[in-house]
Amino acid sequence: MHFRIQVIAVADDGPEQLHEIANVSRDEPTLGTLGLTLEESKQILQQLQHTIVDKQVAGYLDQQRACPACGKPRQLKQSEPAPFHTLFGLIPVPNPRWRHCACQAHTTTTFRPLAALLPERTSPELLYLETKWAALLPYGVTAKLLHEVLPIDHQHSTATVRNHTLAAARRSEEGLGDERAVFVAGCQAEWDRLPIPAGPLSVGVDGGIVRARRDPTGDTTAHLFEVIAGKSILAFRRNDPDDVPPSSKCFALVRSVDPKPKRRLFELLDAQGMQANQQVTFFTDGGETVRTLPAYLHPEAEHLLDWFHLTMKITVLQQCARGLAKPTAVQPDADTADDVSLERCLGSVKHYLWHGNSASALDRLEGVADALEGWGGDEAGAPPPPRNEAAARMRKYVRELATYIANNAPYIVNYGERYRNGERISTSFTESAINQVVSKRMVKRQQMQWTPEGAHLLLQVRTQVLNDDWEATFRTWYPGFRPVPTSVTPALLAA
Ligand SMILES: [Zn+2]
Repeated sequence: MHFRIQVIAVADDGPEQLHEIANVSRDEPTLGTLGLTLEESKQILQQLQHTIVDKQVAGYLDQQRACPACGKPRQLKQSEPAPFHTLFGLIPVPNPRWRHCACQAHTTTTFRPLAALLPERTSPELLYLETKWAALLPYGVTAKLLHEVLPIDHQHSTATVRNHTLAAARRSEEGLGDERAVFVAGCQAEWDRLPIPAGPLSVGVDGGIVRARRDPTGDTTAHLFEVIAGKSILAFRRNDPDDVPPSSKCFALVRSVDPKPKRRLFELLDAQGMQANQQVTFFTDGGETVRTLPAYLHPEAEHLLDWFHLTMKITVLQQCARGLAKPTAVQPDADTADDVSLERCLGSVKHYLWHGNSASALDRLEGVADALEGWGGDEAGAPPPPRNEAAARMRKYVRELATYIANNAPYIVNYGERYRNGERISTSFTESAINQVVSKRMVKRQQMQWTPEGAHLLLQVRTQVLNDDWEATFRTWYPGFRPVPTSVTPALLAA
């Protein structure tokens, strides 16, 4: 059997034009030959795109040909096609040069009318899909996938995908307002007059480290840079039905290159409808830079140390305690009470912290550190043998945890009571925001090394994709992009 695939172009005033775009032949059908192959679909799509784009551009040029002042057609100086990159192939479009009409004065003698229609040479559909995929997958994988399923230009490389993604991110960054030290506006009397706010807003902010591209100067400290990521969870909106899940939005930034970290976080909360009379709680991981970010964003916000981060640190110590070489291995007569009490002590540190009692937690940690000091030594206090490096390391971790708790004491609250009252004690029980937003695209692929700027820009696209906002951003740049509902009528369904 033979299939001829044609397109009929119907002009607004009626005339129709038929274009052959492809021929498909099939012998006896088998499971392997039924329907179109991927390769055939790519060729058909490319031919179809070519036909439609060509007609649209020709129609546009026809409309523009007459001089807007006197109506005389402008003279053609020269015509050669220009490349237009689309999701369905590289399409050569007519790109004539016309002489300006002599009826008016002009600074140039000729111009290209296509420049007004196509100020960019890549279609938004292509730009959208490649940047969206690149936010979720490595640049190289994105390029491979696009080539696999679509007839895009064979020269569209990993570098093209990266450049387009970073350019789109820069464009999005230009839309961000100015940085300020304080975002709280108004006074109590004004806030009291605000409408009843939506449910409590919980905002988690974490810091993480990303490995940087090797610096030619050999400066080792430049190999790592700090990334801050967070998410904001709105418990409910007043008019939403009960079964609507809480709205959650994320943000991320690279501290060393972001001139507007507070503005970025403020815009995220503003987009979720934050009001000055709303209950807002910031949960941070306890890091210095992370803790200062949400200051002065909301008049009455609570600032808490995130329970997930606190309890993770104790879990790590408990694992260390279990892994310690037991003194009984070399002292068969010794009591095993030491290691038992280590774990028990750490358990009570956690218990005190759960109830917001950081002073008692610090006392207990001091006891753990003391126990570790003589770990494995005999009763005469002989120096610990080399096998107790693990104990020394754990002792260091215990000291670090004590410093961490002391620094964050004002933000350690009675988590148990909050929990019983049904209030949030963490924004993430299973994963940190850093892991969800940053690590899955960046840290785990160790062979990929980032520049701080490249990482920051990619994160701006990634967070908008994760927040389901990227398409809306494109709509602000390209009016008419992806109208809803779609303008395609399936012929078979319409018949
Ligand atoms: Zn004229």
